[in-house]
Amino acid sequence: MRLTGLPLLAVVALGLAAPAPGFAAPPPVESCHKEKTFDAWLDGVRSDARAAGDSANAIDEALDGVTFDPEIVKKDRAQGVFTQDFLQFSDRMVAAYRLTEGKARIAKLADVFQRIEKTYGVPAPVLTGFWGLETDFGAGNGTGPTLTSLATLGYDCRRPDFFRQQLMAAIKIIDRGDLSASQMRGPWAGELGQLQFIPERYLNFGVDFDGDGRVDLLHSSPDALASAANYIKSLGWKAGQPWLQEVRVPQSLPWEKADLSIKLPLSQWSQWGVTLPGGKPLPAKGPDASLFLPMGRNGPAFLAYPNFDAYLQWNNSLVYSATAAYFATRLAGAPPVGRGTIGDSELTAAEVRQVQSLLAAKGYDIGKADGIIGASTRQAVKAEQLKFGLPPDSYPSRELLQKLTEGA
Ligand code: CA
Repeated sequence: MRLTGLPLLAVVALGLAAPAPGFAAPPPVESCHKEKTFDAWLDGVRSDARAAGDSANAIDEALDGVTFDPEIVKKDRAQGVFTQDFLQFSDRMVAAYRLTEGKARIAKLADVFQRIEKTYGVPAPVLTGFWGLETDFGAGNGTGPTLTSLATLGYDCRRPDFFRQQLMAAIKIIDRGDLSASQMRGPWAGELGQLQFIPERYLNFGVDFDGDGRVDLLHSSPDALASAANYIKSLGWKAGQPWLQEVRVPQSLPWEKADLSIKLPLSQWSQWGVTLPGGKPLPAKGPDASLFLPMGRNGPAFLAYPNFDAYLQWNNSLVYSATAAYFATRLAGAPPVGRGTIGDSELTAAEVRQVQSLLAAKGYDIGKADGIIGASTRQAVKAEQLKFGLPPDSYPSRELLQKLTEGA
């Protein structure tokens, strides 16, 4: 998945991808393979699959008739950059209908969710949050030919090794009898099923939870949800622990402590004046937590517990992770998030890019100046806020932009 912004799968599943302005046809496929043609390359995949023990039938079923589709490469090149902030994205994704539908799904599958939690320790709201964001509870699994996507992107030279590996995994899924080649359909980037698993994840973490003998993450919600729980458990999820809790923070807070890499006892947060949204004290007991300000000190505030790390591993976009985790709290009964006072004072994406360029010019490694306020941008922002004596909440503000411009 992409290292910044909203990963591929969410962009695709949510229909957020937009062609970049002035987008033209992709350059011709350069040679990053020893084979001169797509068919010769595919023959290499066939022989590797045979060597990996896949049956001739499964290999033929998967690869016969698969062609290189330049339209898929075009889509891969045309991915827009995702710059919505937490409130914009969560307003859109945690819409009323999705909350209603999510709660209805939890009620309808209560027995399944109970068994899943007993087996893997991951509760229904967490799974349902991902389910809703990824595919609207299985309604938007995608309809493109997955094997064509994987083979095309495996032959293309942007991420050949990753997609070749996914193609090999897809052949194994067919060989295992979980899906037929014609059933393998999804978004153009090759994810599969109601929780949008890449084929390797399907192969390694997929479970048959409805007991029909097949791991079917497309048509069986019990299989898809239990597989997600199995995967989340592997990311270190701790049963019975919270993941995210909305809080109120006083302006006197030592803002440099609000950092996902800093976990402190709840008693310490209480001592600094952090409370529950209604002003009630934080629970006396609980795991150490980070103070997470997805939009800085004037926006919403959360305590992020160790289980929140599983969200960041599912998807390393802070905005996606915050939204999925917040959605789960809403499904578990939390009220709508307080919006803070940030309002119109927030920087535009163009201004964020300007901040990023100024930070890069000062030698910070912020990756691309893409307008996405990810972990490396936050780190650099915090360092400069500390230098300038601004509240170090790691979120770019107009004051910081001004100071950086003056110093440039
Ligand atoms: Ca099954």
